[in-house]
Amino acid sequence: MQNRRIYLSSPTMHGEELEYVHEAFDTNWVAPLGPNVNEFEKEVAAYVGGGYCAALSAGTAAIHLAMIIAGVKRDDVVFAQSLTFSATVNPIVYVGAKPVFIDSEPDTWNMDPKALEKAFEKYPQCRVVMAVNLYGTPSKLDEIRAICDEHDAILIEDAAESLGSVYKGAHTGTFGNFGIFSFNGNKIITSSGGGMLYSKDEEVIKKARFLATQAREPERHYEHKEIGYNYRMSNVVAGIGRGQMKHLDEHVSLKRDIYMTYKKAFEDLDGVRMNPYAADSEPNFWLSCITLDESLSVKPIDIMLALEKENIETRPIWKPMHMQPVFKDCDMIKAGDDALSDKIFDTGLCLPSDIKNTAEDMDRIISLIRGVFGR
Ligand SMILES: *Cc1c(COP(=O)(O)O)cnc(C)c1O
Repeated sequence: MQNRRIYLSSPTMHGEELEYVHEAFDTNWVAPLGPNVNEFEKEVAAYVGGGYCAALSAGTAAIHLAMIIAGVKRDDVVFAQSLTFSATVNPIVYVGAKPVFIDSEPDTWNMDPKALEKAFEKYPQCRVVMAVNLYGTPSKLDEIRAICDEHDAILIEDAAESLGSVYKGAHTGTFGNFGIFSFNGNKIITSSGGGMLYSKDEEVIKKARFLATQAREPERHYEHKEIGYNYRMSNVVAGIGRGQMKHLDEHVSLKRDIYMTYKKAFEDLDGVRMNPYAADSEPNFWLSCITLDESLSVKPIDIMLALEKENIETRPIWKPMHMQPVFKDCDMIKAGDDALSDKIFDTGLCLPSDIKNTAEDMDRIISLIRGVFGR
């Protein structure tokens, strides 16, 4: 019989989620609004240290509304980290603006502040920057924030993968003018699908809720002065999210264990390195990744194939946006001559980081990987 499939990161439910879902059914709050939505927003805002949230149908919807509220217009330039998932960047195009991609630095794999400075020299008119905390690792948020302030630019922090990560004592998602969280099925906690827009400014979040409910003016009849969207989170879905919030810290702790277990297991393999993070940050370790030095004869594909044979899921590092056919005409700014994000993509691999992995699962994954190295 084929072994049980081991996933990169799949939903982990605890039972309390169902209680909130039952409550929604019992009270007939089966709607894109309701008490679970309101409470879920408050709970996430309180968790990250205060501020306001709008619960939405997806993290991508949150990024789209951030673009609109930030005032991004047709043909504007928006700087975005190249090494990310396409959902970071697609909403830039939804509003007709032009993404200009920024390369990564080696300490966190996120936006390189030096490249960002260079980008402002080339495009001084840019007013919006999209930073990402990839795989749950905080970016150099203070440096990025300072450069944005210097250029009067709005910072949007895509924390879709980093809920629960801390940078210099504060939660990621709270460093930008806007923060984005996702509750998609593969994220650190999930509501089956959904997202949130975060801001310290209540007016911003009120505006987001207004746009997300078809931009209905407060009138007895349907009155519209702006184009709206149907982006609100369902009360049933928010119930799942509330149950998951109770387990967020536990998920982070299990993810950290997975990362540390891999780190220790590969310590004696020269040229094999874990995805890095800075000493002033505490990632949520959403995905554990490795890179293999180019000089090694083992390539990421060798590990992928060896694990796939055993029904174990891995995935290449997210392919940088500047390498994507759909964005081939977009500019890319890097600090030096070579793009680091290309190299991370070529040499890296995301390892199974599912918190339902048992100690035996981890042992098996590790010995399969070490086996590829003949160890
Ligand atoms: C998942 C993800 C998103 C989008 O979130 P959805 O809820 O799936 O729309 C955005 N950015 C990054 C970096 C992500 O990983």
